[in-house]
Amino acid sequence: MLKTSEETLDPADWQDFRLQSHRMLDDMLDYIESLRERPVWQPIPAAVREVFQQPLPAQPGDLGAAHEMFMQNVLPYAIGNAHPGFMGWVHGGGTPVGMLAEMLAAGLNANLGGREQMPVEVERQLLRWVRELFGFPETASGLFVTGTSMANLISVLVARTAALGGEVREKGLSAGHKLTAYTSSSAHVSVAQAMDMAGIGTAALRRIPVNAHYQMDVAALEQAIAADKAAGMTPFIIAATAGTVDVGAIDALAEIADVAQREAVWFHVDGAYGALGRLAADIAPLLQGIERADSIAFDFHKWGQVPYDAGFVLVRDGALHYNTFASPAAYLQRETRGMAAGSPWPCDFGPDLSRGFRALKTWFTLQVYGSEKLGQVISNTCALARYLRQRVEAEPGLELMAPVALNIVCFRYRSAEADRINADIVVALQESGIAAPSTTRINGQLAIRAAIVNHRTRTGDIDALIAATLAFGADIERQAEKF
Ligand SMILES: *Cc1c(COP(=O)(O)O)cnc(C)c1O
Repeated sequence: MLKTSEETLDPADWQDFRLQSHRMLDDMLDYIESLRERPVWQPIPAAVREVFQQPLPAQPGDLGAAHEMFMQNVLPYAIGNAHPGFMGWVHGGGTPVGMLAEMLAAGLNANLGGREQMPVEVERQLLRWVRELFGFPETASGLFVTGTSMANLISVLVARTAALGGEVREKGLSAGHKLTAYTSSSAHVSVAQAMDMAGIGTAALRRIPVNAHYQMDVAALEQAIAADKAAGMTPFIIAATAGTVDVGAIDALAEIADVAQREAVWFHVDGAYGALGRLAADIAPLLQGIERADSIAFDFHKWGQVPYDAGFVLVRDGALHYNTFASPAAYLQRETRGMAAGSPWPCDFGPDLSRGFRALKTWFTLQVYGSEKLGQVISNTCALARYLRQRVEAEPGLELMAPVALNIVCFRYRSAEADRINADIVVALQESGIAAPSTTRINGQLAIRAAIVNHRTRTGDIDALIAATLAFGADIERQAEKF
């Protein structure tokens, strides 16, 4: 006899579930409201780690108990990028509005691969806003992706189609290729990874030296292209950076756009965090030339404060973008009516078929805060970076390691053994929970790197970073002298 079940995964008692839901929402609101009272980060005790080393549970567990496990063992040991004292790497802070939007999106459980549905229209609204922001034409295409790493890969693949034609999709690069690409020595590693994953190889990526402002040396770029052409190579993409990860430098985008135009080479901008500087009246002029890009990769989850993850790729030539990815399949047949209408679909513009509703949290963020307010947040992080620079310059015990172009300050504690002492200072700062910068190397020397991205950061957080750096530096030096 055929046996089926009436059971689902929905709660047996909705009233009980509702009460538990409200407790979970309240806990997260309490968390965000009281962030300042917590350490930015704290080391994970072994016992806490073990809570998540259990065998696969066969039997149902209690939701309230699972929530409690999260509150005790996960929430206090996150990396802390929501905290105003977080200045490590380039992480966005997120917002309570974004959090609520994520809940709505999860409840709807929309799959944005395509088809006839309003969630896809929300993503198209975002594309129209992004086109408007960057001054791109209506024929430009765009897509939410995980992050700029994926957006850089998609851009390299579209540029590869532009250079070799659509048949590269069928034939691959097996017959050998002579493609060469150009980026600065300060570019993010994901540009090289994109070359690798696109099958072109990292050896074909020319890393152009930078000037004193850590911008791509445009004369050296032109020489490299000329040398490659003379050697019979085919230069196909220049990947400029708007906001380098280590010091926040913006390449001379307008000059690079001229070179790309003259050489008929694809002009890509990795604007992972910097591109959204277009929202800020005082930063936008620094990005002049970005509006001439063939493609832009950027993240709403960094300066845009949208919760992770929300990367975006914008491509000027939408038809070329479509022709790089669209793949016919019987089960993805398009119609003019019914649920299979609405072509082209997002899945025609990238490698992902099933896709989450990243557009919703981004729409809520822009709709609720507005572009001006988000622009002011961006300006303020740069003002805080200038404040930090001034504080560093005024402290005889500290030295500035690189010019401050945007929101990133590289500095260090002066010492005969500066590399080791500063590495120890950064670990001490992180473990203290007071402030959380990271490190980078500037001209081979270790620097404390403070990237101010969070909308919650204030001058008091900068003062705390300076005070703790000086105190830990003195402590560590004193201890070193004992041995
Ligand atoms: C963060 C960053 C990336 C990588 O972006 P993800 O969103 O982490 O994939 C690439 N380039 C630059 C300049 C970045 O700052």
